[in-house]
Amino acid sequence: MIAWTSNAPENVPGSGPELMLYDSASREVRPLPPGAGTGMYVCGITPYDATHIGHASTYVAFDLLNRYWRDGGAEVQYVQNVTDVDDPLLERATATGVDWRDLAEQQTNLFRGDMEALNVLAPDHYVGAVETVDWLVPVVEALVADGIAYAVPGVDGEPDGDIYFSVQDGQSRYMGDGSWHLGHISGLSEATMLQLSAERGGDPTRPGKRHPLDPLLWRVARSGEPDWDGATLGRGRPGWHIECSVIAQRLLPQPFAVQGGGSDLVFPHHEMSAAHAWASSRQPLAHHYCHAGMVALDGEKMSKSKGNLVFVSRLLKSGVDPAAIRLAIIAHHYRSDWSWTDEGLESAKLRLEKWRTAAGRPTSEAAAADLAAAVRRALADDLNAPVALQAVDDWCEQAPTAGEGGAQVAALVDSLLGVRL
Ligand code: ZN
Repeated sequence: MIAWTSNAPENVPGSGPELMLYDSASREVRPLPPGAGTGMYVCGITPYDATHIGHASTYVAFDLLNRYWRDGGAEVQYVQNVTDVDDPLLERATATGVDWRDLAEQQTNLFRGDMEALNVLAPDHYVGAVETVDWLVPVVEALVADGIAYAVPGVDGEPDGDIYFSVQDGQSRYMGDGSWHLGHISGLSEATMLQLSAERGGDPTRPGKRHPLDPLLWRVARSGEPDWDGATLGRGRPGWHIECSVIAQRLLPQPFAVQGGGSDLVFPHHEMSAAHAWASSRQPLAHHYCHAGMVALDGEKMSKSKGNLVFVSRLLKSGVDPAAIRLAIIAHHYRSDWSWTDEGLESAKLRLEKWRTAAGRPTSEAAAADLAAAVRRALADDLNAPVALQAVDDWCEQAPTAGEGGAQVAALVDSLLGVRL
């Protein structure tokens, strides 16, 4: 699948300190282990609806990481998927009378446009679930052969043969050597996991499963749903967690540095993707599991049912400068839960104007170099963009002097913060 287009960030003289990053699994801010590399997998969209500001905020967060690594001279390997076949997409397609493939294509295109506008660097590999079914089938077959995955008999009108991953068998097989166990990534209690599983697309009450939290690996063909050749699994389509696990393992050296996504992916998605990776490769999937906070609207959780989603494409269409949207997002620390408000957008617009004015006047190169150091220090500290923004604000308050520092600051702000002045 083709990603969007983006320009390589401009080289800014100097470099920053070692990056410290919060890891959800160890629940601490820590450096990546030496030699961890700079491979990053960020879970992509299920393309059935336009990119809302919550999605955008997640991809902008990991874009800050990508930019920081590149600024330090790293060769980042960035992979993102598109879950271009899944229940919500098929349900929306049926409800609106659109072919599911057309819906996926339209929405993926809209997403590409939003990412370009927001100056998010494109992934090196942009991969759809549909184009990777062949990668996944042998992995699931091997888990079945290993006894860690099993077929569930059909009851209540469901066909025979859906394949599930056994969390207990996976856990008991590998437990005791510090490897994956239920709760390894999320740290949640089983009661909380059961609740979240029911809320987030799992099926804890399905009869015939060995454990309520066992996730689906392969859904056998149903009439009216698309299906693919699954060899010994029978025709069907892949589960979501195994999709990301297999794509990530296939395209990145394992374990890679960072598995990323929104905080609603910690459980079950990242928990189970990591479990599948352990079970099929006996290795951790990633060194760090990093999660961006959730974005509400005026203090209320954004949701389709409430009809209060803020879409990036609509903001752009109404003439909002994408650099202001990006600034409104990064005014909040990526891990915090925050609220999108008109006031937040207005202050981002004012800030952008102030930065543009300041970057256009003669100003000292030494002050620009000091600012570069301050911005890098802030980003190295768990991507603390709000502190970096404050440093730029402070620089704007300095009295103009002779010099070409303004151009340097414009390059810095574009390269490290992704804000085009
Ligand atoms: Zn994923």
